[in-house]
Amino acid sequence: LQTTAYKALTSDTLSTRLGELTSLTSRVGTETKDWKIQEVGDGNLNLVFIVEGSKGSAIVKQALPYVRLVGDSWPLPLYRAYYEHEALVRQAARNPGTVPEIYHFDNDQALIVMEFLSPHTILRHKLIAGERVQGLATFLGTFCARTAFRGSELSMKSSDKKTDVSLFAGNIEIPAITEALVFSDPYFNAERNHHTPELGNVVNELRHDVELKTRVQELFMSFASNTETMVHGDLHSGSVMSTATDSMVIDPEFAQYGPMSFDLGMLIANFLMAYFSQPGHRSEDTLDEYQEWILAIISESLVTFEDEFTTLWNSERTGMLYPATLFEDQGHSSQPALQSLLNRIRTEAMGYCGIEMHRRTLSLAHNADFEEIKDSAVRASLEARNLMMGRELILTSDKILDAGTLVALARQYN
Ligand code: ADP
Ligand code: MG
Ligand code: MG
Ligand code: MG
Repeated sequence: LQTTAYKALTSDTLSTRLGELTSLTSRVGTETKDWKIQEVGDGNLNLVFIVEGSKGSAIVKQALPYVRLVGDSWPLPLYRAYYEHEALVRQAARNPGTVPEIYHFDNDQALIVMEFLSPHTILRHKLIAGERVQGLATFLGTFCARTAFRGSELSMKSSDKKTDVSLFAGNIEIPAITEALVFSDPYFNAERNHHTPELGNVVNELRHDVELKTRVQELFMSFASNTETMVHGDLHSGSVMSTATDSMVIDPEFAQYGPMSFDLGMLIANFLMAYFSQPGHRSEDTLDEYQEWILAIISESLVTFEDEFTTLWNSERTGMLYPATLFEDQGHSSQPALQSLLNRIRTEAMGYCGIEMHRRTLSLAHNADFEEIKDSAVRASLEARNLMMGRELILTSDKILDAGTLVALARQYN
């Protein structure tokens, strides 16, 4: 029988250890001899196996007790699988059909068995390859709006939301990674940092910009203390899997209660990095057209977010915040209040966006958009555009009044 003591799976032990798990065998078939097992984890943290049998396939994702990218010198609690599972359950409720279906969860083994998304591939690779995804901006803007709104006290019963905040408050070590790698390390010479050597001057300038660091700390404080909704927490283009016409969100192990603006800001940052890195991936004849497509995705994601948030405001505002008793019931429109909230969310999102643009080029865990550009001089010149736009976004986040302004700024730095 299966012991409950944690042990990392391998491709060789998986079928013996999970061969009698009916939630798995009902999906892939009971003939374990025929199972094809492949470890495909390309992330920084966990083991991910594709299990294919005569009946079908499934994903088995298991947490490791350390950071995979670094090794066992950096321990990391297994309980993150618990939070990932809890987050998947909430995202499935708040925006159905947007995350993999869960087949099984084993807390002792820090293991989630879930739907194998196929023929979906990681969005980041598609953006590097110059592929388009229909409906991407609508999908992502809607995902961010629904999870933000429906996980907040604009919608949830206050007692339920507070219970949930206390549950997720147990996820300590994972937010700590964001707190260090995203908000702190980029702005000093942290041990884990690395950057393209040619960027020395730009990096020096950023690290000595006290106004910039002050604004970053303001945003950090808000990230660390604001629990207005459950955020995905790691919503970059490596956490989205797509086909040419369908998209899904994966990997919410960084979930925490945090600012409504956080996921939106991270996402836009990753599209901006895809945008700035394009000259390193394709020739002149397709470059402009593809960069314009990315800008349209950025713009539509933001517009969709605000439209969907407005729809939810008008139809699902049942929580303790901004109640109808204070507005509509007394004959006042709540639209100015909504506008003011959306402005605050957008301003914060632009700030988080700029910070994410910095950390992905200066801290640990860079992204492939730039890393795959082999010529370091080319890479540095593109990363510099990204860094400088990030700086402007952080410092003038309240001047980005709409998607058009954001896109115009990106063109200016390109
Ligand atoms: P990590 O937390 O280590 O980043 P991820 O959840 O991002 O792990 O998964 C790592 C990789 O495994 C993904 O980039 C993707 O290629 C693959 N993967 C993860 N979940 C699924 C899934 N449900 N369906 C198909 N592939 C998946
Ligand atoms: Mg991942
Ligand atoms: Mg879908
Ligand atoms: Mg992850």
